[in-house]
Amino acid sequence: MAQKIQAIRGMNDVLPAESHQWEYFEGVLRKLLADYGYQNIRTPIVEATPLFVRSIGEVTDIVEKEMYTFTDALNGDSLTLRPEGTAGTLRAVVEHNLLYNATQKLWYQGPMYRHERPQKGRYRQFHQVGIEALGFAGPDIDAEIILLTADLWQRLGLQDSVQLEINTLGNKEERAAHREALVAYLEQHADSLDEDGKRRMYSNPLRVLDTKNPALQAMANAAPRLIDYLGEASRAHYEGWKAMIGALGIRFVENPRLVRGLDYYNQSVFEWVTTELGAQGTVCAGGRYDGLTEQLGGKPAPGIGFGMGMERVLLLLAAKDLLPKARAVDVYLVQQGEGAAMYGMRVARSLREAGYSVIQHLGDGSFKSQMKKADASGAEFALIVGENEMAAGTVAVKPLRTELAQEVVAVDALALTLARLKS
Ligand code: ATP
Ligand code: MG
Repeated sequence: MAQKIQAIRGMNDVLPAESHQWEYFEGVLRKLLADYGYQNIRTPIVEATPLFVRSIGEVTDIVEKEMYTFTDALNGDSLTLRPEGTAGTLRAVVEHNLLYNATQKLWYQGPMYRHERPQKGRYRQFHQVGIEALGFAGPDIDAEIILLTADLWQRLGLQDSVQLEINTLGNKEERAAHREALVAYLEQHADSLDEDGKRRMYSNPLRVLDTKNPALQAMANAAPRLIDYLGEASRAHYEGWKAMIGALGIRFVENPRLVRGLDYYNQSVFEWVTTELGAQGTVCAGGRYDGLTEQLGGKPAPGIGFGMGMERVLLLLAAKDLLPKARAVDVYLVQQGEGAAMYGMRVARSLREAGYSVIQHLGDGSFKSQMKKADASGAEFALIVGENEMAAGTVAVKPLRTELAQEVVAVDALALTLARLKS
């Protein structure tokens, strides 16, 4: 036997036994996003490498060590499998001039790629759903996005499983002033920093505070806080945002150390976290990125969005037993005798036209084994077609999930009969 070829480590198949869970979650999302006026955008999975370097930032986990980058053998271009969705979305917005005299509320969904150590809730191919609201200076849109996410948790039944953390990163000038104080502080503590910390002390000091190293928590907690460096406008934006979230009755915690792992953020940033998934506790993360369109060669425009890890939400739903069962087919059609297959196919077609899903038994099989399959399929009805039925233009209807008796009905009356017998 030839050797089996296996999937790439950290890249998962979604098998039929669980794909309905994805479809359920995607259905809730589609409805929610439409309810808030977001439109779907679909961009390529592969982009030019500089797009991510320029937007996400050189000194970030993603760009430093997580990207799947390769050379296009035909022309030598450096290409990268997208590690997140904002860069490609904004590239498309700028490229197609979508902000010309317009604002945009966009959403995307799809696979993302990061070369990380696979573990529960952390994969090399994973899926994000995300939104980008462009052209809104806020803070009302910032609040509406929090409302949208809170609404999602409500619709999924997860409202008590996630907590909102928020912070502000101010503007460029404020970050520069804070940075100076922060670098000085980090220099004082240089001896106690870990390798990442030492490396980032000058290149990306804010990220040093984002450390997950337990030994560094006290140092990070006592570091100069960006919030103390905010000017009036940034402070007003932050206070306005908080007041609106509060007025909506959405609980939040201010986390002055929340900085986010990507460079493009400014002002409002937030994460929805859970304590129920171990170390992979962030299910949704986002913030404002007012400079990003300009950085990608477009006109300046305010922007804010989030990315949500879909596997993590599904893990949470599974842990809480909030996932629906797979929907079974309505009808399983059993047949016996010369010509029954074609007769059955016509019956099945007319039923599908009437809105019923039908599995027709194909190939051989005794009546008994076909009825077993009908039962195992979860169908509500078995339809039985044999020589008598064919001769009379009828079908026998056997309800499989109730005690109701089997009936023989004319093909024309079949859809109405099923509607009457439906439990
Ligand atoms: P983490 O701190 O967990 O590495 P991150 O800050 O790198 O997350 P973002 O870039 O903000 O993550 O991505 C948004 C969301 O996508 C995360 O909050 C998480 O839910 C999900 N996510 C990120 N990386 C992975 C991954 N490797 N596997 C599964 N989900 C992921
Ligand atoms: Mg990460």
